[in-house]
Amino acid sequence: MSDEEIDIMLGLKTVLTQIEGAVARRSKELPQVAPKLVAVSKTKPVAMIVKAYEYGQRHFGENYVNELAEKANSPELLDKCKDIKWHFIGHLQTNKINKLLGSPGLHMIETIHSDNLANNINKQWPKYRKNDENLKVMVQINTSGEDAKSGVDPEQATQLVEHILNNCPNLEFIGLMTIGQYGYDISQGPNPDFMKLFQYRKEVCKNLNLDINQVELSMGMSTDFEHAIEMGATTVRVGSNIFGTRTPK
Ligand SMILES: *Cc1c(COP(=O)(O)O)cnc(C)c1O
Repeated sequence: MSDEEIDIMLGLKTVLTQIEGAVARRSKELPQVAPKLVAVSKTKPVAMIVKAYEYGQRHFGENYVNELAEKANSPELLDKCKDIKWHFIGHLQTNKINKLLGSPGLHMIETIHSDNLANNINKQWPKYRKNDENLKVMVQINTSGEDAKSGVDPEQATQLVEHILNNCPNLEFIGLMTIGQYGYDISQGPNPDFMKLFQYRKEVCKNLNLDINQVELSMGMSTDFEHAIEMGATTVRVGSNIFGTRTPK
Protein backbone atom coordinates (compact mmCIF):
# COMPACT_ATOMS: atom_id res chain seq x y z
CA MET A 1 0.00 0.00 0.00
CA SER A 2 1.17 3.54 -0.67
CA ASP A 3 1.48 6.05 2.16
CA GLU A 4 -1.74 7.75 1.02
CA GLU A 5 -3.75 4.57 1.36
CA ILE A 6 -2.69 3.77 4.89
CA ASP A 7 -5.47 4.21 7.43
CA ILE A 8 -3.52 5.73 10.29
CA MET A 9 -6.50 6.06 12.59
CA LEU A 10 -7.28 2.37 12.23
CA GLY A 11 -3.64 1.44 12.78
CA LEU A 12 -3.39 3.57 15.89
CA LYS A 13 -6.67 2.35 17.32
CA THR A 14 -5.72 -1.25 16.72
CA VAL A 15 -2.34 -0.85 18.38
CA LEU A 16 -3.82 1.00 21.38
CA THR A 17 -6.44 -1.72 21.82
CA GLN A 18 -3.76 -4.39 21.61
CA ILE A 19 -1.71 -2.51 24.22
CA GLU A 20 -4.64 -2.49 26.62
CA GLY A 21 -5.23 -6.17 26.06
CA ALA A 22 -1.60 -6.95 26.78
CA VAL A 23 -1.60 -4.85 29.96
CA ALA A 24 -4.62 -6.79 31.18
CA ARG A 25 -2.78 -10.07 30.62
CA ARG A 26 0.31 -8.99 32.48
CA SER A 27 1.12 -10.49 35.84
CA LYS A 28 -0.01 -8.42 38.79
CA GLU A 29 3.48 -8.63 40.28
CA LEU A 30 4.84 -6.46 37.51
CA PRO A 31 5.32 -2.79 38.29
CA GLN A 32 2.06 -1.21 37.16
CA VAL A 33 3.52 1.56 35.07
CA ALA A 34 1.10 2.66 32.36
CA PRO A 35 2.57 1.77 29.01
CA LYS A 36 3.34 4.48 26.51
CA LEU A 37 3.18 4.20 22.75
CA VAL A 38 5.93 5.82 20.74
CA ALA A 39 4.82 5.98 17.10
CA VAL A 40 7.93 5.43 15.01
CA SER A 41 7.59 7.62 11.93
CA LYS A 42 10.98 7.08 10.27
CA THR A 43 10.91 7.31 6.45
CA LYS A 44 7.29 8.48 6.63
CA PRO A 45 6.17 11.97 5.57
CA VAL A 46 5.16 14.83 7.86
CA ALA A 47 1.56 14.57 6.61
CA MET A 48 1.25 11.14 8.23
CA ILE A 49 2.65 12.42 11.52
CA VAL A 50 0.16 15.26 11.50
CA LYS A 51 -2.67 12.76 10.95
CA ALA A 52 -1.59 10.59 13.84
CA TYR A 53 -1.22 13.71 16.00
CA GLU A 54 -4.73 14.79 15.13
CA TYR A 55 -5.98 11.40 16.30
CA GLY A 56 -4.40 12.09 19.67
CA GLN A 57 -0.93 10.53 19.37
CA ARG A 58 1.74 12.70 21.02
CA HIS A 59 4.92 10.61 21.27
CA PHE A 60 6.84 9.99 18.05
CA GLY A 61 10.17 8.30 17.42
CA GLU A 62 12.89 8.76 14.83
CA ASN A 63 16.25 7.07 14.51
CA TYR A 64 18.19 9.53 12.34
CA VAL A 65 19.07 12.98 13.64
CA ASN A 66 18.80 14.69 10.26
CA GLU A 67 15.38 13.23 9.61
CA LEU A 68 14.09 14.11 13.07
CA ALA A 69 15.44 17.67 12.81
CA GLU A 70 13.96 18.17 9.37
CA LYS A 71 10.52 16.94 10.42
CA ALA A 72 10.57 18.72 13.77
CA ASN A 73 11.37 22.02 12.02
CA SER A 74 8.87 21.68 9.22
CA PRO A 75 6.44 24.64 9.25
CA GLU A 76 3.40 22.36 8.95
CA LEU A 77 4.38 20.33 11.97
CA LEU A 78 5.37 23.39 14.01
CA ASP A 79 1.99 24.87 13.24
CA LYS A 80 -0.22 21.83 13.78
CA CYS A 81 1.62 19.71 16.34
CA LYS A 82 2.63 22.12 19.06
CA ASP A 83 2.64 19.50 21.81
CA ILE A 84 4.54 16.80 19.93
CA LYS A 85 7.05 14.79 21.95
CA TRP A 86 9.97 13.43 19.98
CA HIS A 87 11.92 10.39 21.10
CA PHE A 88 15.31 9.84 19.56
CA ILE A 89 15.81 6.08 19.22
CA GLY A 90 18.83 5.75 16.92
CA HIS A 91 22.57 5.70 17.35
CA LEU A 92 23.69 9.18 18.33
CA GLN A 93 27.03 10.49 17.10
CA THR A 94 28.76 13.28 18.98
CA ASN A 95 28.82 15.58 15.96
CA LYS A 96 25.02 15.44 15.71
CA ILE A 97 24.24 16.30 19.32
CA ASN A 98 23.61 20.00 18.78
CA LYS A 99 21.37 19.39 15.82
CA LEU A 100 19.31 16.94 17.84
CA LEU A 101 19.11 19.09 20.97
CA GLY A 102 18.03 22.07 18.91
CA SER A 103 15.09 20.21 17.37
CA PRO A 104 11.76 21.64 18.58
CA GLY A 105 9.76 19.21 20.68
CA LEU A 106 12.66 16.91 21.57
CA HIS A 107 11.36 15.01 24.58
CA MET A 108 13.70 12.12 25.21
CA ILE A 109 16.87 10.42 24.02
CA GLU A 110 16.42 6.68 24.52
CA THR A 111 19.86 5.65 23.35
CA ILE A 112 22.52 6.80 25.80
CA HIS A 113 25.33 4.28 25.51
CA SER A 114 28.38 5.87 27.16
CA ASP A 115 29.54 8.25 29.88
CA ASN A 116 31.05 10.39 27.21
CA LEU A 117 27.82 10.78 25.26
CA ALA A 118 25.92 11.55 28.47
CA ASN A 119 28.53 14.18 29.43
CA ASN A 120 28.33 15.85 26.04
CA ILE A 121 24.56 16.03 26.04
CA ASN A 122 24.53 17.22 29.64
CA LYS A 123 26.95 20.01 28.77
CA GLN A 124 25.03 21.20 25.70
CA TRP A 125 21.46 20.94 27.01
CA PRO A 126 21.39 24.28 28.91
CA LYS A 127 21.73 26.07 25.56
CA TYR A 128 18.51 24.52 24.31
CA ARG A 129 16.33 23.77 27.30
CA LYS A 130 12.98 25.40 27.81
CA ASN A 131 11.03 25.89 31.04
CA ASP A 132 13.99 24.73 33.12
CA GLU A 133 13.32 21.13 32.18
CA ASN A 134 16.01 18.51 32.30
CA LEU A 135 16.31 16.32 29.24
CA LYS A 136 14.85 12.86 29.70
CA VAL A 137 17.18 10.02 28.82
CA MET A 138 17.20 6.25 28.76
CA VAL A 139 20.22 4.01 28.83
CA GLN A 140 20.34 1.60 25.91
CA ILE A 141 21.60 -1.86 26.78
CA ASN A 142 22.95 -4.26 24.20
CA THR A 143 21.06 -7.27 25.50
CA SER A 144 21.71 -9.50 22.49
CA GLY A 145 25.49 -8.99 22.49
CA GLU A 146 25.46 -8.47 18.72
CA ASP A 147 28.31 -6.23 17.51
CA ALA A 148 26.00 -4.36 15.16
CA LYS A 149 23.64 -3.27 17.95
CA SER A 150 24.66 -0.28 19.95
CA GLY A 151 24.12 0.10 23.63
CA VAL A 152 26.19 -0.39 26.73
CA ASP A 153 27.27 -3.87 27.77
CA PRO A 154 24.99 -5.18 30.51
CA GLU A 155 27.81 -5.24 33.07
CA GLN A 156 28.26 -1.50 32.62
CA ALA A 157 24.59 -0.55 32.94
CA THR A 158 24.69 0.26 36.65
CA GLN A 159 27.83 2.31 36.26
CA LEU A 160 26.36 4.35 33.40
CA VAL A 161 23.09 5.01 35.20
CA GLU A 162 25.03 6.01 38.31
CA HIS A 163 27.18 8.33 36.23
CA ILE A 164 24.08 10.05 34.84
CA LEU A 165 22.49 10.39 38.27
CA ASN A 166 25.63 11.77 39.90
CA ASN A 167 27.32 13.76 37.18
CA CYS A 168 24.70 14.93 34.71
CA PRO A 169 22.44 17.42 36.52
CA ASN A 170 20.80 18.52 33.25
CA LEU A 171 19.60 15.02 32.46
CA GLU A 172 16.73 13.06 33.98
CA PHE A 173 17.19 9.30 34.02
CA ILE A 174 13.95 7.64 32.91
CA GLY A 175 14.72 4.01 32.20
CA LEU A 176 16.37 1.30 30.15
CA MET A 177 15.94 0.52 26.48
CA THR A 178 16.84 -2.37 24.22
CA ILE A 179 16.38 -3.23 20.58
CA GLY A 180 17.38 -6.87 20.81
CA GLN A 181 17.61 -9.54 18.21
CA TYR A 182 15.38 -9.08 15.15
CA GLY A 183 12.93 -11.76 14.12
CA TYR A 184 12.88 -13.71 17.37
CA ASP A 185 10.16 -16.36 17.22
CA ILE A 186 8.10 -16.22 20.41
CA SER A 187 6.81 -19.74 19.92
CA GLN A 188 10.29 -20.58 21.26
CA GLY A 189 9.34 -19.00 24.60
CA PRO A 190 9.76 -15.59 26.18
CA ASN A 191 12.04 -13.26 24.26
CA PRO A 192 15.46 -13.48 25.96
CA ASP A 193 16.26 -9.81 25.28
CA PHE A 194 13.11 -8.72 27.09
CA MET A 195 13.83 -11.08 29.98
CA LYS A 196 17.34 -9.68 30.24
CA LEU A 197 16.24 -6.05 30.22
CA PHE A 198 13.72 -6.86 32.94
CA GLN A 199 16.46 -8.51 34.97
CA TYR A 200 18.93 -5.65 34.46
CA ARG A 201 16.40 -3.17 35.76
CA LYS A 202 16.17 -5.20 38.97
CA GLU A 203 19.93 -5.18 39.32
CA VAL A 204 20.37 -1.51 38.54
CA CYS A 205 17.60 -0.57 40.98
CA LYS A 206 19.05 -2.77 43.70
CA ASN A 207 22.59 -1.50 43.18
CA LEU A 208 21.57 2.14 43.17
CA ASN A 209 18.65 1.95 45.54
CA LEU A 210 16.11 3.17 42.99
CA ASP A 211 12.37 2.56 43.05
CA ILE A 212 11.67 -0.06 40.38
CA ASN A 213 8.26 1.49 39.73
CA GLN A 214 9.97 4.67 38.62
CA VAL A 215 12.25 3.07 36.06
CA GLU A 216 10.79 2.47 32.61
CA LEU A 217 11.55 -0.31 30.16
CA SER A 218 11.44 0.56 26.47
CA MET A 219 11.21 -2.65 24.48
CA GLY A 220 9.01 -4.14 21.78
CA MET A 221 8.26 -3.12 18.19
CA SER A 222 5.52 -3.94 15.66
CA THR A 223 6.05 -7.69 15.65
CA ASP A 224 6.33 -8.16 19.39
CA PHE A 225 5.05 -5.18 21.41
CA GLU A 226 2.21 -7.13 23.02
CA HIS A 227 4.63 -9.80 24.13
CA ALA A 228 6.96 -7.07 25.41
CA ILE A 229 4.19 -5.50 27.47
CA GLU A 230 3.29 -8.85 28.97
CA MET A 231 6.93 -9.07 29.96
CA GLY A 232 6.94 -5.65 31.58
CA ALA A 233 7.57 -3.08 28.85
CA THR A 234 6.40 0.40 29.84
CA THR A 235 7.25 2.00 26.51
CA VAL A 236 6.78 0.31 23.15
CA ARG A 237 8.06 1.68 19.87
CA VAL A 238 5.75 0.82 17.00
CA GLY A 239 6.21 1.92 13.41
CA SER A 240 4.93 -0.27 10.58
CA ASN A 241 1.70 -1.32 12.33
CA ILE A 242 0.68 2.32 12.38
CA PHE A 243 2.29 3.88 9.31
CA GLY A 244 2.59 0.85 7.04
CA THR A 245 5.68 -1.03 5.97
CA ARG A 246 8.74 0.93 4.98
CA THR A 247 10.32 0.70 1.58
CA PRO A 248 14.06 0.21 2.03
CA LYS A 249 15.98 3.38 1.15
C1 LIG B 1 12.25 1.29 13.39
C2 LIG B 1 12.35 1.11 14.84
C3 LIG B 1 11.25 0.69 15.59
C4 LIG B 1 9.89 0.36 15.01
O1 LIG B 1 9.95 -0.70 14.11
P1 LIG B 1 8.60 -1.38 13.52
O2 LIG B 1 9.02 -2.78 13.29
O3 LIG B 1 8.29 -0.65 12.26
O4 LIG B 1 7.56 -1.25 14.53
C5 LIG B 1 11.42 0.55 16.95
N1 LIG B 1 12.59 0.82 17.56
C6 LIG B 1 13.67 1.24 16.88
C7 LIG B 1 14.93 1.51 17.60
C8 LIG B 1 13.59 1.39 15.49
O5 LIG B 1 14.67 1.81 14.83
